[in-house]
Amino acid sequence: MYRGRLAPSPTGLLHLGHARTFWTAQRRAEAAGGTLILRNDDLDRARCRSEFVTAMVEDLRWFGFEWSEGPDVGGSFAPYDQSMRQESYVDAFERLRASGHIFPCTCSRHDVQRALGAPHTADDEPLYPGTCRHVSADRPRAGLNWRFRVPDGETLGFEDRRQGEQRAIAGADFGDFLVWRKDDLPSYQLACVADDAAMRISEVVRGADLITSTFRQLLLYRALDLPGPAFFHCPLVTDAQGRRLAKREDAVSLRTLRASGKSPEEIRNAWG
Ligand code: GLU
Ligand code: ZN
Repeated sequence: MYRGRLAPSPTGLLHLGHARTFWTAQRRAEAAGGTLILRNDDLDRARCRSEFVTAMVEDLRWFGFEWSEGPDVGGSFAPYDQSMRQESYVDAFERLRASGHIFPCTCSRHDVQRALGAPHTADDEPLYPGTCRHVSADRPRAGLNWRFRVPDGETLGFEDRRQGEQRAIAGADFGDFLVWRKDDLPSYQLACVADDAAMRISEVVRGADLITSTFRQLLLYRALDLPGPAFFHCPLVTDAQGRRLAKREDAVSLRTLRASGKSPEEIRNAWG
């Protein structure tokens, strides 16, 4: 049974880049006769705002998105707001700790960047130099950053349903990554895996900018002994100058388009 998801973060207004990727997600769920869910990825309390949650639901509905489970409609895997799922993240964290996959890290972002002249990974995260790798995990969870120890040198692969065969080398293309933050919240990687697994997502449709994250997440599925979903990474949406829409502060929001009298059909037709 196909289960897909839309997983926006309410840190701002949804723009065309989101709409395009989400539209692909919706069409794939429809084509498979499956279920589409909406998940409110509101982990980052400092950056998420409730008015953006309201706007997100409104803008998605206006555009023609339809989900059968979500924060506004409920469902068997509720709650669909990440801010309400802390228990399940703590559970995943403790399993990773018990199986020896994680370590507490006291490096600042600056330390990590400075080490080794700061080589960067495919998605521009600095490669972790391994400084705290051998620190004991017998420490309180809160108040520390925790990282996943990646299997250095292992070649990882998966068959992406849009981009084909993907490969990355752990420890070279990406390093020990954050799973828990010192403000006692899970990282995006851990929350995403815990939720996609708990909500029985069978295919993750998202932007190609997250392919390196997918490798990190595959390591988490393996460490947690959870079955992973299939992946479909959409090409990135760029503007006329070839700049990534997601990186632009002024990316055209669905709100602005709607106010200017554009219809969702016109927008979709322009995608061809
Ligand atoms: N909330 C995340 C984002 O908006 C979800 C990414 C994903 O689809 O995994 O970047
Ligand atoms: Zn460290």
